[in-house]
Amino acid sequence: MQEPIKILGVPVHPLTMRQSVDFLEQRMLAREQTFVVTANAEIIMMCQEDAGYNKIVSQEAELVLPDGAGAVWAGRYLGYQVPERVAGFDLFNHLLALAAKKGYKAFFFGGSPGVAEAAKAKSESLYPGVQVAGCHNGYFTEADEPAIIEAINASGADMLFVALGAPKQEKWLLQHRAQLRPRILMGIGGSFDVFAGKMERAPKWMQDASLEWAFRLYKQPSRFIRMLALPKFVLKVIFSGK
Ligand code: UDP
Repeated sequence: MQEPIKILGVPVHPLTMRQSVDFLEQRMLAREQTFVVTANAEIIMMCQEDAGYNKIVSQEAELVLPDGAGAVWAGRYLGYQVPERVAGFDLFNHLLALAAKKGYKAFFFGGSPGVAEAAKAKSESLYPGVQVAGCHNGYFTEADEPAIIEAINASGADMLFVALGAPKQEKWLLQHRAQLRPRILMGIGGSFDVFAGKMERAPKWMQDASLEWAFRLYKQPSRFIRMLALPKFVLKVIFSGK
């Protein structure tokens, strides 16, 4: 695979969506486990402030993709070729389409009670034949973890999608990856909420105009503080570069 580029010290693989899906499928077929992170500006900023999280994204994840207009802009601003944005929600959809086509199984872990099940129903209507072999909500205690891991492994899932929000989902995946049998491990933030109709994704024209962040802020003003990471990210890239 191509060498990763560096955005504020975080390695990011500048692949297209197609290349990302192919890479993940090849590794799955080779029985190799791949921990995927779709790194948006917020995640790259979290890496600046949380050394443990930075280590997960920079050293433990085998595939880190440029999610969001900010990450793509930063890569290009720093002089790299970044072919396109590989958003977590879009990659999740492409992997479900692949699973439906080839008979791979998925497990949905995370979200409020009932949300993963609603996301499963939506996946089955969007991708007929897709097998979501199990679901579990994302509100659990440490004591529940062995049973959750057992349910994931017993389901025979090839792909594990974890929606606990960043950085919790990546920290959970790293902590348990040695016990997890699925070959693809991926954190997907609020993607089940989008499938369950609890959260809307920005219209295509806004995504294309790099305005997805504005839509999110409009829909969830409570994210304002968190979203201050975006202008900070832009300034940090401009002033401190690679
Ligand atoms: N969530 C969860 N368990 C937790 C915390 C969060 O299942 O302990 C879920 C929450 O219900 C939501 C998702 O994680 O579905 C986080 O979504 P958000 O949009 O905040 O994630 P981001 O895409 O910003 O990482």
